[in-house]
Amino acid sequence: MNRREFLITLALLTETTLFGISEEFDDSLSIFNKDLIAISLLKKLTKIQTQVGCRKFNIISFDEMYKTASYLKCALTKKEIFYIENIFYGNPKLYGFSGSRTIRSLTESVNSKNITYIEHSGHYLFKGDAIKKYKKIKNLIGPELILTSGIRMPVKQLYLFLKKSAVSNGNLRVASTSIAPPGFTFHSIGDFDIGKAGYGMSNFTERFEETDVFKKLYDGQYISIRYPKDNSFGVRYEPWHIKVVKGSDCA
Ligand SMILES: [Zn+2]
Repeated sequence: MNRREFLITLALLTETTLFGISEEFDDSLSIFNKDLIAISLLKKLTKIQTQVGCRKFNIISFDEMYKTASYLKCALTKKEIFYIENIFYGNPKLYGFSGSRTIRSLTESVNSKNITYIEHSGHYLFKGDAIKKYKKIKNLIGPELILTSGIRMPVKQLYLFLKKSAVSNGNLRVASTSIAPPGFTFHSIGDFDIGKAGYGMSNFTERFEETDVFKKLYDGQYISIRYPKDNSFGVRYEPWHIKVVKGSDCA
């Protein structure tokens, strides 16, 4: 690791904002200046998503993404890979996210035999508990209930996390209250999001609580919420996020 890389690592490990590096790191600012790496990565990931389609992009592995980037002549640079590794393997508690790690390796992939595509949703669910839970609540509610997000492997989660970070001026504390960092989302191992058909982005706000879909499921105790109000994980209240996987931090 050269001095510049060391400074980047140090900055990532000590700052709550990724890009707001303090004065003493001025000589390394050219790398991070104005979110350059994040912006560059976002552009590349967007290009890859367009190439493979949103559906496939949800489950694309890091290796597949890397190969597709090279094919599209937008290969990832060493700095970009270093940056991704820091996000993935870093300690998110340093910027206020206290959820558990769900995926150990950045290059983890899903076996197509273990997943099912949910028609008209653009999303996949794992066979077993996730699909059973989804079918149960789908049968109860009917066409009004939609799957708004299913399996999200590290590349997709990275993309969402970078997008949220970009609109949060690089503040990872703010970004991680609504999007878990890659490696730390339960979407990678079974959880999923539901919504009411035609409710649009309101499905991802507390207004979802006001819908018949939510009330019926909640009153009937058909769902348990991963991130309840005032949870200790540093994540906003998410009534739409359905907990499937048991975990020590998700009572
Ligand atoms: Zn979710």
